[in-house]
Amino acid sequence: MRITRRNTIRILGAGSLGLLSGGFTFPPAGKRHIITLSFDDGFEKSSIKTAEIYEKYGLSGCINVIANAHLRGSELPDEYHNWPVGDFNLWNELKRRGHEIMPHSYKHTNLTEVPLEEAEDLVSRCIDVFNKELVDFRAEASVFNLPYNASTPELEDYLKTRFRAIRTHGDAVNPLPSEGLFRLGCTSFGPESIDKHLVETIHRFLEGPSGWLIYNTHGLDDEGWGPLSSGVLDELLDKLTGMEDVEVLPVIPALDSV
Ligand SMILES: [Zn+2]
Repeated sequence: MRITRRNTIRILGAGSLGLLSGGFTFPPAGKRHIITLSFDDGFEKSSIKTAEIYEKYGLSGCINVIANAHLRGSELPDEYHNWPVGDFNLWNELKRRGHEIMPHSYKHTNLTEVPLEEAEDLVSRCIDVFNKELVDFRAEASVFNLPYNASTPELEDYLKTRFRAIRTHGDAVNPLPSEGLFRLGCTSFGPESIDKHLVETIHRFLEGPSGWLIYNTHGLDDEGWGPLSSGVLDELLDKLTGMEDVEVLPVIPALDSV
């Protein structure tokens, strides 16, 4: 059988819970492991479901949205954005419920492929929309999640003047939060299902030394680039919340946990 994405999802969907059936070995005592699943692109259905699953375990999700995506006529950056997105009514509601809602650019431009001045202008426009639309937004207390995790040293220097932190390319296992930690690396996987890759990545991380794993997730089930099965997310959070010295946190609460 030719493995298409649809088939892959069906196969994984049917056996998805089996991925975790062996369970994780519990991380060694005395180490601290923070895990952030950083959900990009703001698909409406996925974001609602992600929030619900996190709430089931008393956790806050981390959802990063594109400033202009909800506007009619906004161009889709690529085929992996072809699902309905939420608007700021939804983002404000999820924020009220304790979830982290952070910027994922103005219109998903790869900011390394435009002149620095244009990149800075797009960042400013993104901040303007968030200031106007998202209750209690303050860029200097927020994390900017770069589209495609693409950035240059010059762009990062500029972002440092606007934001508390950035999420970009780099080692997915970051040091534990410390005062002034600004640049956060992450890993992602796609365009197929991330179920197996995510579970294996977390498993390896928990076997290692203390640290902060940031995994850049996108939509759930069949939405977005590199989707995650909602059943796997549910079971994963169930397992992780049962482990001592393992914390599932959004970025800002993790930075605050120094
Ligand atoms: Zn994105």
